[in-house]
Amino acid sequence: MAISFRNIHYGGIIMNYACSSRCAHCLYACAPQRDKAYLDEATAERLLDALAAQGCMEVHIGGGEPFLQPEALIRFCRRLRQRGFSVDYVETNSSWATDEKRTRDICRRLREAGVHTLLLSISPYHLGYVPLARVKALMAACRDTGMEIFLWRREFWEELEAMGAGTHSRAEFEAKYGADYWRQFARRYGVGLGGRARETYQAGLPHKSAETVEKQPCRELFNTGHFHMDCYGYYIPSGCTGLGIAVEDLKALPTGKYPLIEALHAGGVAALHRLAKEKFGFTADPAGYIDGCHLCSHIREYLALDAHAACPELHPMDHYRQLRGEREDHR
Ligand code: SF4
Ligand code: SF4
Repeated sequence: MAISFRNIHYGGIIMNYACSSRCAHCLYACAPQRDKAYLDEATAERLLDALAAQGCMEVHIGGGEPFLQPEALIRFCRRLRQRGFSVDYVETNSSWATDEKRTRDICRRLREAGVHTLLLSISPYHLGYVPLARVKALMAACRDTGMEIFLWRREFWEELEAMGAGTHSRAEFEAKYGADYWRQFARRYGVGLGGRARETYQAGLPHKSAETVEKQPCRELFNTGHFHMDCYGYYIPSGCTGLGIAVEDLKALPTGKYPLIEALHAGGVAALHRLAKEKFGFTADPAGYIDGCHLCSHIREYLALDAHAACPELHPMDHYRQLRGEREDHR
C-alpha cells in the first residue's frame, strides 16, 4: 500500500526561508544568505488546495521572516480569507519595525485582511540580531491597530531587557549570566535538536556509534500533528528539516518517487543507513552521533551535496548548502 500523509490537522505556512537573523537555535537554518524565494500566488493555491482537501482550514504563518515582503504577505492573508481559511497568528522577529508609520500601516492592513494576532519571537539568540526597541515599536503599532500579540517566549523578557539597549552577542550573555547560560537556555526554551540547533549544541552532548543510534525509532516523520508547508509547494514533516514531499503527493506517495522516505517508512534510520551505504557509498562518522535524527541528517546531507542523489525529498537543497557553508566558515 502506498505511503500516505493523511489526517494532517494543524500546520504552518513557511512564506520564505530568508531571514534578517541567523539564530543559533533555528531549526530551519534560516539566514539572510538563504534563497530569496517567497510564496507566490500559484504555489499558494497549490498549498491551499492540499490543505482544503484534508479539511485543514486553520494555519499559522511563519518563515524565515515573513515580513520581508509585506505586500505579498498581506495578499496571501486576503486570499486565505477568501478561501475560507483562518489565520491563527503570523510569526515575526520584529526586525522590520523601523518606521512607525509604515509599521502601523502594515499592521492595519493585515488586520483588514483578517489577521488578529502576531507572534513576536524573542529570545537571547534573537537579541543577537534584533534590539528590543524594534519589538517594542511593533507592540505599540499592534496596540494602535487592534492587533493582538503573543510574545514567544514571554519568560525571557526581563533578562533580555536587563542586557540594555541594542543587540547582544553570545559572549555578552555569558559575561552577564555565566558560562553555562546557553546550555541552560536550551533546557529552559526546549530547543529542538535539528537544523542549526544541532550544529550549535552537538559538541557538548554524548555521541554513540551509528549502529547504536540507528536503532532509535523515526517518530517525527509521520507525525502529522504540527507540520509545515513551504514556499516551494512542499510538505515539511514536523522536526525533519531538509525533508519534503510535494503537496500533491501527500495522499499517496507514488511508489519509487521518494526512496529515502520509503526506506525510513520500511525500517527507520537503519534502513536509510543501509541504503546510503550500499547504493551511494556513505560512510558513517567515526566520532558518532547524538541520536538517530543526527545520523539521518548526516546521511541526507551526504546524499544531497556529495552523492548528488536524485531524491526529491532532499528538500530544500539550500538547507544543506546553508548548514555546510556555515560549518566551513567556522573552521
Ligand atoms: S529562529 Fe526565527 S528569527 Fe531566528 S533565524 Fe530562524 S526564522 Fe529567523
Ligand atoms: S530519523 Fe530522520 S526522518 Fe526520522 S524523525 Fe529523525 S530526522 Fe525525521
